[in-house]
Amino acid sequence: MKSTLIKHGLVYAVEAHQFQPMDVLIEDKQIVAIERHIKAETDSTIDASSLHIAPGFIDLHCHIFNHPLFKNGRLPADRIGVNQGVACLLDTGSAGPTTIDAFKEFVIDTQSTATYALCNIGSPGQPGITGGHAATPELISLSGTVDAIERNPDWILGVKVLASSTHTGLMGLEAVKIGRKAAEIAGTPLMVHIGNAPPLVDDVLDLLRPGDIVTHAYHGKTGGVLGYNDLVIPQFRAAVERGVIVDIAHGRSSFSYQTCAKALDQGMPVHTISSDLHGGNINRYVVSLARTMSKFRTLGLSLEDVIQAVTVNPAKAVGLDKKGFGQLNVGGPANLTLFAETDRAVEMEDAEGEIRISQNWIEPKMVFIDGVCFETTEVL
Ligand SMILES: [Zn+2]
Repeated sequence: MKSTLIKHGLVYAVEAHQFQPMDVLIEDKQIVAIERHIKAETDSTIDASSLHIAPGFIDLHCHIFNHPLFKNGRLPADRIGVNQGVACLLDTGSAGPTTIDAFKEFVIDTQSTATYALCNIGSPGQPGITGGHAATPELISLSGTVDAIERNPDWILGVKVLASSTHTGLMGLEAVKIGRKAAEIAGTPLMVHIGNAPPLVDDVLDLLRPGDIVTHAYHGKTGGVLGYNDLVIPQFRAAVERGVIVDIAHGRSSFSYQTCAKALDQGMPVHTISSDLHGGNINRYVVSLARTMSKFRTLGLSLEDVIQAVTVNPAKAVGLDKKGFGQLNVGGPANLTLFAETDRAVEMEDAEGEIRISQNWIEPKMVFIDGVCFETTEVL
């Protein structure tokens, strides 16, 4: 049995929603103690005196279905997972009913990062990063989506629909209704991408139920969650009030500092911070989940709120809390991310080309998954 003592870290206490100076003792796959001063003979000791310790980071929206036939634009999970200090990744609809079974063989079984998926209602999924995968009735499969989830309940955690002209074309609103129905039958959440009309985001939001996830919520395209005079549209406010989850999913074209700042000013939330990382945005715009998190520090979110948005909130959103994520408990699995927050000034570009300079730069150093430690290797 391998044991590790992490000394002098600032540990995120989930219930208190604050960082507290603590030591953490890990034995085998488990956290066995979180206390102010732990004395123990262990196989290894980590000095975390300049580091924060959080539940393992979760990226609720990315594209890691790295199948040889479909890898156009996809990334190997570990490149944006353990190599970047992220413990758990959710692939959001890269695969659909006819392709998703291969996700286990090509992703889950080959990668060290914990990986899960949402099933796209478009039969092929998104083979590349271009659109049209669910633009005609015969490409959309209600029964296929439900069957895929029933075949793979351990790792398909919900349904994905892309409600934008780019992807679902004139099927738009009908596609969302079918996705909602699939989620209802399968008993999972629905994640809905919002983008270019049609369909109108106003109509899409009205279809969402409590616990559904609206992703790319603060994109900068015309016809998003801001309407006349940049006021939040009533359909978005109503969706938030009835419990729809607001997800960021930065991506190449889906996050605007200005949209987000205006929504925050009007009391709108950021529940989950995710990257939408794929091959087309890892070298510019997004780069990493950590960089996306740092952007929210410049928008005024506290470090605690940013950490909650990549741990507790995404875990609850798709049931990852029942798989040992989004928590840091004695007796629980040792899934954690150790990171530094520094004053390093980095130019951070949003999807609209606006650059802001970091003041609170979040830099993961290592991640534990079930007690196994991985050091960060990717440039962030
Ligand atoms: Zn995406």
